[in-house]
Amino acid sequence: MLQGRIRKQIRELVPYDIPEYSGMIKLDANENNYDFPSEVRERIFSLVNGQTFTRYPDPKAASLREHLADYADFPASQILVGNGSDELIQNLMLAFAMHKKAFITTPTFGMYRIHAEIAGAIPVAIPRKKKYQVDTDAILEAAMDPEAGILILCSPNNPTGNIVSLETVEVILKNTDMIVVVDEAYYEFCGQTAAQLLHKYPQLVVLRSLSKAFGLAGLRVGYMLAGAEVTGIMNRIKQPFNVNVFSQLAAKVLLESRSIFETQIQEICASRAELHAALEGMPGLKPFSSAANFIMFQVEGAASVYEELLNHNILIRLLDSPELPDCLRVSVGKPEENRVFVQVLEKILRRRESYGKKGEGVQENQ
Ligand SMILES: *Cc1c(COP(=O)(O)O)cnc(C)c1O
Repeated sequence: MLQGRIRKQIRELVPYDIPEYSGMIKLDANENNYDFPSEVRERIFSLVNGQTFTRYPDPKAASLREHLADYADFPASQILVGNGSDELIQNLMLAFAMHKKAFITTPTFGMYRIHAEIAGAIPVAIPRKKKYQVDTDAILEAAMDPEAGILILCSPNNPTGNIVSLETVEVILKNTDMIVVVDEAYYEFCGQTAAQLLHKYPQLVVLRSLSKAFGLAGLRVGYMLAGAEVTGIMNRIKQPFNVNVFSQLAAKVLLESRSIFETQIQEICASRAELHAALEGMPGLKPFSSAANFIMFQVEGAASVYEELLNHNILIRLLDSPELPDCLRVSVGKPEENRVFVQVLEKILRRRESYGKKGEGVQENQ
């Protein structure tokens, strides 16, 4: 009965859910799988003792923004912190795209469309080209649309792994006034950032997260870098107490100890190269090169490969969609986890190969 009272956009959404994963090798969500450094954990807990939980958190997250300013080399007054960058994506949609078009370069991160729907924006896909590069001509055409509200470019792109060049970003910025968001959730694994264009283009927004490289997914801290005007608009619509006391404190401690994570990030990038080489050597499997902490690959019968991995307690992401047929995405985990994944995947493919050969003869049903 209530269904009739809500917007079609909301009626058609599906609640977010994630698979149960206890006891699994978890390579499905691009988290940092290294153990959280015990010295950082201990420092957080020692400081938490001095905190009061009866008062609201600092709505401006002033001290955390100072830490982020130091890390990102960007003025604190133009940094905004969110309850994960997911919250910032939704607020960007609310502020700049309601009743307008939100251009999304598919295939890409699925939450953009969902946040657009929630915010009453019209999500419009601008399909990527052959090797998943963005279609600059199509974007420039979209930029002329009087209903254009926002364009989101994910770089490196989840799930394909490729980056969009800064030249392309700048060509787009030169030709539009709509808000252009570059989502750099995986920035630390590639080192390329559009932040250097922020002083020239007031409509540019750079999104970052502490969930991926810095292993803080459970505490929900994301941030954005933008010009003064966009920051001012976003400050008007943000929930005052969006980032809680504990998360603000933990994020600060983590940024003070970031050299530990920088070592992990280097190791993850080295593991990414090893994993890519291993995947490349497997028959019938095609990995795509990645500038992030995950690798997308294509293999015939991806859904059954996914299921077989699950039977071996390995959880990865099945993408298999019309845009990404037979594609899977695996996060780069700890070296030992990557090793087990590679071994099990090799076993699965070898077994299929021998089945395939038998299948040609009379033993088809065995
Ligand atoms: C994981 C991810 C996010 C979400 O980050 P949170 O800060 O945890 O909300 C945003 N964008 C992309 C592309 C991601 O992959």
